[in-house]
Amino acid sequence: MVDVRGVHKSYGPLEVLRGVDLRVRPGEVTVIIGPSGSGKSTLLRGINHLEKIDRGYIAIDGEFVGYRRSGNRLHELKEREILRRRTHIGFVFQNFNLFPHLTVRQNVTEAPISAQRRPRDEVEALAAELLEQVGLSGKADAYPRQLSGGQQQRVAIARALALRPKVVLFDEPTSALDPELVGEVLEVMKALARGGTTMIVVTHEIGFAREVADTVAFMDAGRIVEQGPPPRVLDRPEHDRTRAFLGRVL
Ligand code: ADP
Ligand code: MG
Repeated sequence: MVDVRGVHKSYGPLEVLRGVDLRVRPGEVTVIIGPSGSGKSTLLRGINHLEKIDRGYIAIDGEFVGYRRSGNRLHELKEREILRRRTHIGFVFQNFNLFPHLTVRQNVTEAPISAQRRPRDEVEALAAELLEQVGLSGKADAYPRQLSGGQQQRVAIARALALRPKVVLFDEPTSALDPELVGEVLEVMKALARGGTTMIVVTHEIGFAREVADTVAFMDAGRIVEQGPPPRVLDRPEHDRTRAFLGRVL
């Protein structure tokens, strides 16, 4: 479903991604852990084409998103096609990024109606269903500022799902939350995982990784250093850097 090969990205002299390979099969959950500055957000933003990569190949469900090298030519998509393909990818940000001037319902229905041009009736019915699923049926007419951080993040998840995405990317979805609000967001994510949503989750919540991930990938200095099932990576890591990182976060 997600196929990332040999991805490189620099900001000026700073090499942020140094040859990343990652494959996520349909219905699987991959959790990416790793120190701050290791390139986790840049990788997710590359997958979503919010950031241009310099080199490599990224495809979602067989459709390449960024660049594809064939022979010596680098193919680049047109902006409109990028936008179309991006609507198949849900993205949940650390800071929710809801539209402050739109209600909860409008936040969820905006992109499916305007970017995907789906019928309003269908999208509104789906939005009602999704808000129920994240436990916010009663908040459809509220504005983001009237909600707690945990509620806002659950709206953001409903908004991502309304795109009927092939994959949902989460970038530290609970890092900005007060500790007592983390659990409600993780519960929603666990339910999604059980329901078969393909997910890539960057998080420091090791307990979540252990319980939900099919694969845990440890990223350091622009590379995925090791990956595998949670018990192998979290309990018996092969690399010293993984061990040192886990020693700091556990
Ligand atoms: P992580 O999410 O693992 O903490 P990031 O992908 O955010 O790491 O960042 C990796 C490195 O790239 C960091 O050193 C960061 O400062 C740098 N970086 C990220 N975005 C930019 C940017 N737009 N311009 C310059 N440097 C950036
Ligand atoms: Mg980050």
